[in-house]
Amino acid sequence: MIRFGRTLWLTLMLAIGLLCVPPAHAQIGTIGNVGRALAVCVSRVQPGDTVRRMFARPERFDCTTSQSAMGPGDYWVLSEPLPPPADANAAIRVRQVSLWQRQTGLYALAADGRIAGQIADEFGIGRRLKLGAVIDHRFVPHGAPFTRLLWRIDGAGNLRGIVLGPKIATDADSIRSDILLAALYSAFAGLALGLLVYNLALWRVLNHDFQLAYCGLLGCLLLYALSSSGALAWLLPDMSNNRRILFSYMMLCGGMATALTFCAFFFEARVLDGAPIRAMRGFIVIFCVLVVLFAALGAQWIAPLDRIFSVTMLLSPVAVLAALVRAWRRHSMYLSLFALSWAAPLVMLVARSLYNLGLVPWNFWVDNSTILAMSAETLLASVAIAYRMRMLSHERDEAVRQEAISRELADTDPLTGLLNRRAFLARAVPSDGPRTLMLFDIDHFKQVNDTIGHDGGDEVLRLFARTLRYHAPPGVLVARMGGEEFALLGEEAQMPDVDVILSSVRAVRLPFDLRMTTSIGICHGPLSDDNDWKRLYRRADKALFEAKAAGRDRAGRALAA
Ligand code: GH3
Ligand code: MG
Ligand code: MG
Repeated sequence: MIRFGRTLWLTLMLAIGLLCVPPAHAQIGTIGNVGRALAVCVSRVQPGDTVRRMFARPERFDCTTSQSAMGPGDYWVLSEPLPPPADANAAIRVRQVSLWQRQTGLYALAADGRIAGQIADEFGIGRRLKLGAVIDHRFVPHGAPFTRLLWRIDGAGNLRGIVLGPKIATDADSIRSDILLAALYSAFAGLALGLLVYNLALWRVLNHDFQLAYCGLLGCLLLYALSSSGALAWLLPDMSNNRRILFSYMMLCGGMATALTFCAFFFEARVLDGAPIRAMRGFIVIFCVLVVLFAALGAQWIAPLDRIFSVTMLLSPVAVLAALVRAWRRHSMYLSLFALSWAAPLVMLVARSLYNLGLVPWNFWVDNSTILAMSAETLLASVAIAYRMRMLSHERDEAVRQEAISRELADTDPLTGLLNRRAFLARAVPSDGPRTLMLFDIDHFKQVNDTIGHDGGDEVLRLFARTLRYHAPPGVLVARMGGEEFALLGEEAQMPDVDVILSSVRAVRLPFDLRMTTSIGICHGPLSDDNDWKRLYRRADKALFEAKAAGRDRAGRALAA
């Protein structure tokens, strides 16, 4: 088991690794985020504005106020002057992150004064999406290179910005990004699908609730990846981009609800009772309600719903942390693996929520680390599940072992280790065929006790038991019937020679020159039911009594029953 100290360090390292993301301007060429970042300035749309007029009046634009502070509405967004292209005839790609908006128009001003433009409504945007849900506009120059870009955004929700992360890229950049993101997403999809099938199969066999919650989580993450990658827009070309964004929200909420359910079931029941489990259930309910609210009211109320969603997301790790603290206090066996597998998603969650609430600026890694953190989490959580399974099977093996031990204890006479009367009878009756019963009673045992004390007497009983066990071949039952009375039962041919036993008992060395002898009653007969047993026992006991009466230290044999 990994100790908590080490886990804490690993968790911190993961956290630091995820937080040390490069600043926005240093991201040129990082995975999926291709091209050269463009600075942009914003202006509200006013009556009478035209594209050409807006290109001509850069002073109308506000370059200092943060976009998300401007609220929803219709906007013009002007880029900084474009850098001169390496190849004047090559097409340019303008890439930006897809956001909640009703319509987007993008215009490129060429050096000769010509303006090229493309307009897409929320349905058209879906068809323009590239992997990573990046909107990709392509402009082909006609003689003169493009010098500046202007967006007209109508119905901007402005939840995170108006035009986010705009980049200018070449065809090659764009294709490279698609290939890299395709590899990333398909790796995640393959991993998650494999884990989903594997865990569903395991759940069918083992039936643990946390397995089902984990499968639900994988399902939500897969659908979230399908939607947030933009692939959903290709599968459903008639779906509007805003609907696709709503679907992403719903899958994230579903993912959170299932992740918290997993957490609630993962620990031992004794660990999370009380406040932590109540907090967790509360968040699960809120996320489920949010799924319904996004589906029903998302189109009209996206801004307040987004706010509620972000605040809930930011607060929900509190429930997980409370569970972790409790698990630490109550020495849960599953703490280390749980903390390890959930570190990345927790950090991602906090980073995303801070960004959603405008507390940290937009950052490609915050946006795309989701998929990486999800991959890490699905893999590590699967390791955690495998470990949890191992612990469960250990627990089960231990329970089986304990049961065997207690059954053996219940069947054993504690002083001598021989079978007790009950277990002896349970094994003896019924027997398939005649059996020979030998009953032993130590002679004058009272005297032994009187001479060497009760503890000494116990030791003599142990010695006697050892002698019987020594002479009984396998298959012959050896039992202490009570007090200083013992029994052997087996097939006639297997039974040891009584004279040998008598002389062995005589030969046992005892303190104070005490001698031990035993009297034996022997009877042979059928043993197919309780009545047979009673008859056999009565006759053997009678033979034993006769041996005692005849002077002890001998065997008496009853006639065959
Ligand atoms: P006999 O030869 O007629 O069998 O004489 P005996 O003294 O062996 O017979 P009796 O039945 O009078 O006495 C049996 C004694 O065994 C009495 C009891 O205190 C003793 N005894 C029974 N169980 C135990 C035990 O577990 N430990 C010890 N030390 N003594 C026991
Ligand atoms: Mg007795
Ligand atoms: Mg006796």
